[in-house]
Amino acid sequence: MQWGLIGASTIAAEYMIGAIRAHEGNSVDAVLSSSRARADAYAAAHDIPNADTELSVLLARPEIDAVYISTTNEKHRDQALAALAAGKHVLCEKPLAMSVADARTMVEAARKAGVVFATNHHLRCAGAHRAAKALIAEGRIGKVLSMRVFHAVMLPEHLRGWRIDNPAAGGGVIPDITVHDADTVRFYLDEDPRRVVAQAVSSGLGQGVEDSVMSVWTMPSGIMVQSHESFTHPFAGSGLEVHGSKGSIFARNVMSQRPTGTVTLVTEAGETDVPYESEGLYEYAITAFNRAVAGEGRPAANGIDGVKSLAVAMAVRQSALQGRAVDVNYEGY
Ligand code: NDP
Repeated sequence: MQWGLIGASTIAAEYMIGAIRAHEGNSVDAVLSSSRARADAYAAAHDIPNADTELSVLLARPEIDAVYISTTNEKHRDQALAALAAGKHVLCEKPLAMSVADARTMVEAARKAGVVFATNHHLRCAGAHRAAKALIAEGRIGKVLSMRVFHAVMLPEHLRGWRIDNPAAGGGVIPDITVHDADTVRFYLDEDPRRVVAQAVSSGLGQGVEDSVMSVWTMPSGIMVQSHESFTHPFAGSGLEVHGSKGSIFARNVMSQRPTGTVTLVTEAGETDVPYESEGLYEYAITAFNRAVAGEGRPAANGIDGVKSLAVAMAVRQSALQGRAVDVNYEGY
């Protein structure tokens, strides 16, 4: 499969180009930037044969089968719709769009085009999370009662920019990290949050956008979920806990782009370290995407997963702004 990169981004440079190239038979054929100088410099730095500044030019390349969209968030919708209209398979960054309705439009366009459309939610690809989810499925912690997600980190300097000062580009910790946590909780519990209540603050780093948020989610089954995201916590560490009637899972330092951290199962029998596969998260996503294109299964996170994670994040933001509990609007999904 030959890929076009829509966006000369940090995430593509740090993770996705390597993940694509690690998959046998996959290559990166072109990159799109809005700036000629950046397109050329990025293509040269990453050994990409073609550097485009017009989306139509990249999409007209017949050799490109799939595109990876990692521009700033406000551009995802139109770029995805254009790629889908050109018949390309699409792996799109989260949040899929600036609104749930727009994200749904993208998913429906992909369905009509008959191509694969995926969301790059990497956490469900981590061996640690897959191992922890398997414990729940095997009944090792009994009936699940509650889940707590700790994703308060220090946003690295080189990732600040639009994330901390540009609401129009989709800045703020809620579209950046809460979407990932929403996807992770849905992945673990196989159900969709129904209602949320939240508080958010801009505690110094965020300029016009929130940099920290805490929320509590109502799940249809009655499981209680609590989630904390921040850009301002240098030493908090990340993780999650799932507590059940017969045991608890403690996953530490697992809200990461790398296959790191520990998973511990605690039951009446004592504490057990849980082993897990250490495959790269993005490599796992690319493999699942390739399989889906070949008609074998589904992407790790599909378009509807992206719509739903965004719906939860948007409800969290609305709740924080309005100071009241908000029902999650999945736009009919
Ligand atoms: P970047 O800020 O690195 O890139 C976003 C856009 O900014 C690029 O498309 C580029 O525009 C422009 N840009 C990049 N460098 C410069 C520069 N030096 N001067 C001016 N403009 C520049 O964003 P990220 O890679 O951090 O994030 C991109 C997307 O990926 C977001 O949607 C984000 O939410 C998502 N993301 C997802 C992660 C995941 O694990 N799933 C992790 C990190 C990000 P142009 O293309 O026009 O050159």
